[in-house]
Amino acid sequence: MKVLVINCGSSSLKFQLIDSDTEAVLAKGLCERIGIEGSQIVYTPAGSDKITTQTPMPDHNKAVSLVIEALTGPENGVISDLSEIGAVGHRVVHGGEAFSTSVIIDESVKAAIKDCADLAPLHNPANLIGIDACEKLMPGVPQVAVFDTAFHQTMPEKAYLYGLPYEYYEKYRVRRYGFHGTSHSFVSKRCADLMGKDIKDLKIIVCHLGNGASLSAVKNGECVDTSMGLTPLEGIIMGTRSGDIDPAIIQYIAAKENKTLDEMVDILNKKSGVLGLSGGFSSDFRDLEAGYNKGEANCIRAIETYCLRVAKYIGSYAAAMNGVDAICFTAGVGENGPMVRAKICDYLGFMGVELDAEANLVRGDEAVISSGSSKVTVYNLPTNEELAIARETVALV
Ligand code: AMP
Repeated sequence: MKVLVINCGSSSLKFQLIDSDTEAVLAKGLCERIGIEGSQIVYTPAGSDKITTQTPMPDHNKAVSLVIEALTGPENGVISDLSEIGAVGHRVVHGGEAFSTSVIIDESVKAAIKDCADLAPLHNPANLIGIDACEKLMPGVPQVAVFDTAFHQTMPEKAYLYGLPYEYYEKYRVRRYGFHGTSHSFVSKRCADLMGKDIKDLKIIVCHLGNGASLSAVKNGECVDTSMGLTPLEGIIMGTRSGDIDPAIIQYIAAKENKTLDEMVDILNKKSGVLGLSGGFSSDFRDLEAGYNKGEANCIRAIETYCLRVAKYIGSYAAAMNGVDAICFTAGVGENGPMVRAKICDYLGFMGVELDAEANLVRGDEAVISSGSSKVTVYNLPTNEELAIARETVALV
């Protein structure tokens, strides 16, 4: 079956067409600046170069119709007819407590996604718009919602509750939800495959280190803790997000700098993290590593602070699971960052983690990067959220 995977943002739409039998990507692309001047579709059929077409895209309906045109086009199309698409899998950011698995989308599912919109105001409404557009243009084709939060719904109450008045959980469902669940699930399963063991017998820590970043503790195949919270702002230091801070800092800086709450949250989301720590130098680890190697203090500060935070989370998850068999590094920084991986693992000698310096030079490929004598196996393990969404979709339809 051919599955169209859609990841809709408020002004963008990423897509991949995947043949679920071979798991090959037939084509992929991105619609950018939807509803804004200067919109374009970037389309890459397998084995060919990118084709960029600038064209007006007033809304997501137009974007989806352009995706369909690209996929079925006479010159660069990869399918002859829309009817070849057997299902559509949508990445949906927040499923709240309503969804612990992926589901086939119907009216009640759409209503529940809408109900979670105040927990993810930038993402869930955009995800719904993408779903509506696909329903309109591909009537009768089953649509599946795959939630970023679903994998983490197995967390026990003691891991998901905050130390706040319990009434806020009862009234407003204020709790830790976690994100990147599709990636944490995919990587932990792949890790068990590579170890040749049943995931039910393993304790795995997944470090999804991308621009957004989160860790999860996966015990016996289930998530028992994760670092992102009610929103993706909590946890480790990220590209531009602060991760954990003393909440009193918000009031303190707001008073000093005459900022509103909204402005403060904006600073924590967009101007903090390694971008903020490096004095505004860069949120991109390629730039930071280059600066680090030249001895630039801004970059050294950002990378050292980042790595210590990740290492502390790994230590706490080893405690939460009373042990760890494997640590997996994934996503942009995790998959491509030998320096960051080495610095993080340097803190973990106490629990028997020992990297193989040469193996750790790998970028972007699956590899064991720990030494033969390491008590914990450390993997570089590329994530593939689109493939995970396609698999979930096929399983349901
Ligand atoms: P993601 O959110 O998973 O796409 O990760 C994006 C981030 O990965 C970028 O902002 C970079 O910081 C990082 N990244 C990508 N490629 C490299 C690389 N070759 N070396 C170091 N960091 C990288």
